[in-house]
Amino acid sequence: MNIILLGPPGAGKGTQAKVLQEHYHVGQIATGDMLRAEVKAGTKLGMAAKSIMEAGALVPDDLIIDMLAHRLSKPDCRHGFILDGFPRTVPQAEALDAMLAEQKQDLRAVILLKVDEDVLIERIAGRFSCAQCGAGYHETFQPTAKAGVCDKCGSTEFVHRPDDNPVTVKQRFTAYNQQTAPIVPYYQARNIYYEVDGMADLDDVSNAIEAVLRKVGVPAQVAEDAG
Ligand code: ADP
Ligand code: ADP
Ligand code: ZN
Repeated sequence: MNIILLGPPGAGKGTQAKVLQEHYHVGQIATGDMLRAEVKAGTKLGMAAKSIMEAGALVPDDLIIDMLAHRLSKPDCRHGFILDGFPRTVPQAEALDAMLAEQKQDLRAVILLKVDEDVLIERIAGRFSCAQCGAGYHETFQPTAKAGVCDKCGSTEFVHRPDDNPVTVKQRFTAYNQQTAPIVPYYQARNIYYEVDGMADLDDVSNAIEAVLRKVGVPAQVAEDAG
């Protein structure tokens, strides 16, 4: 199963992609996480992307498409993938179609998480993650079970994304509305596009996504197998 989670910054794409990855055992690909790793490692791509990300703009299509093509060739994507944060432009969507066609694969579903802007702002303001394992949290909506300790790995170090500040967030919303929203009609024109209420509680959003997946023929058993 190859699926795309679409949605504005803070919609819950990363959170839901991680849930799906555990249930369906397919590769989770978050281009934002990949870029942050490149920045941290100081690679050529990371150096090119850093200031663009800090400004809340989109990294050029050619750089992103190369990075993604490389990622899709990894073994964990053999049985499918969940894309989170890609595509973000129509040329990226077209490039993905070309890559999939070459591998005789297709997209099973493109799912938009719909969330109002005031809620997005609240979600981004309280977002933080584990510095060790990357697990994502929210100060109010998804806190750690024990204050200051990561549920997944026990680390006590956490990070806030530098681009999760009010000024950059505004730019990221603009980039989403101008450059990313046009991919909705691109997918709507095919029979693979679905919308889910992303304002609901975490578990309800997961259930709604899994209902879509059952509808498009991803066997529920796969999810249940994983418990
Ligand atoms: P969010 O969680 O807010 O949706 P991401 O972590 O997906 O943000 O992305 C963070 C930043 O990384 C973006 O603002 C952009 O600069 C860059 N980025 C991530 N994915 C892409 C992409 N597919 N195309 C261009 N830029 C990207
Ligand atoms: P995205 O990847 O789309 O930018 P995230 O998955 O990082 O968004 O979610 C943004 C923040 O909102 C995180 O702190 C996360 O814990 C929280 N969050 C995600 N989904 C929900 C939800 N359904 N209800 C409340 N908070 C949520
Ligand atoms: Zn952790």
